[in-house]
Amino acid sequence: MPRTSAFFPMPELPEVEVTRRGLAPKLAGRVISGVAVREPRLRWPVPRDVLALAGRTVRAVRRRGKYLLVDCGDGHLILHLGMSGSLRVLPPGTPAQKHDHFDLELGDRVLRLRDPRRFGAVLWAPGDIRAHPLLAHLGVEPLSRALTPARLHALTRGNRIAIKNFLMDGRRIVGVGNIYASESLFRSGINPRKRAGRLSKQEANKLVAAIKATLQAAIRAGGSTLRDFVGADGSSGYAQQRHYVYDRAGKKCRRCRAPIRKLLQGQRSTYYCPTCQK
Ligand SMILES: [Zn+2]
Repeated sequence: MPRTSAFFPMPELPEVEVTRRGLAPKLAGRVISGVAVREPRLRWPVPRDVLALAGRTVRAVRRRGKYLLVDCGDGHLILHLGMSGSLRVLPPGTPAQKHDHFDLELGDRVLRLRDPRRFGAVLWAPGDIRAHPLLAHLGVEPLSRALTPARLHALTRGNRIAIKNFLMDGRRIVGVGNIYASESLFRSGINPRKRAGRLSKQEANKLVAAIKATLQAAIRAGGSTLRDFVGADGSSGYAQQRHYVYDRAGKKCRRCRAPIRKLLQGQRSTYYCPTCQK
């Protein structure tokens, strides 16, 4: 069923990773033949530098947090989907529609950014990508080997904020958004209001495993519709999973049948089971 933008969820790390896996084989090794900027007023103005990308070869498509990094050898094209962005690979000459703001032309195919709300980004970063101001302060990648229970335990020491808010602070761990923070805390049986600094080593073990499992399940769910994600029909590969707690206030816990509760933490809704998450 095609989705309208009103129901399009904000892209979180799994959606961005699914996008990356879909795009990488279609872009890597291709020579950029042209660039079209139809609307430069995105989250930040699209720099004129991107117009000069023609002739470069795409080496790889990487990801840091929710930023997609198109490696062009001497620099990276940084793409961010913002609140409502999506990327598709289309045949050249496909007519652009209203919200299709940016094209990266690669000979027999076009990478097109559609972004109705225009919170997405298209930027050019020459030189060392790790030093870029948008990336330099990002925290540990949750799916990387760098996020170990010992690392999480160390990061939380002396921290008085609630563990849910800690998980959503991208300067510590990057890309665990609202949905996956609630789901990971349910899976590990940790109350979202618990102070981060009071996390035990055993809880850090469970939580790291839960974060990775939750994100990987979402990527797999998106991956099952990967073909469509970058297809011409515009349908998405967004994770369509059964959540344990997210957006289920008042409904029965899938484990213990107690009603799921909702609370506000840092202006964001948290969902949890009062019985399973003491
Ligand atoms: Zn429960």
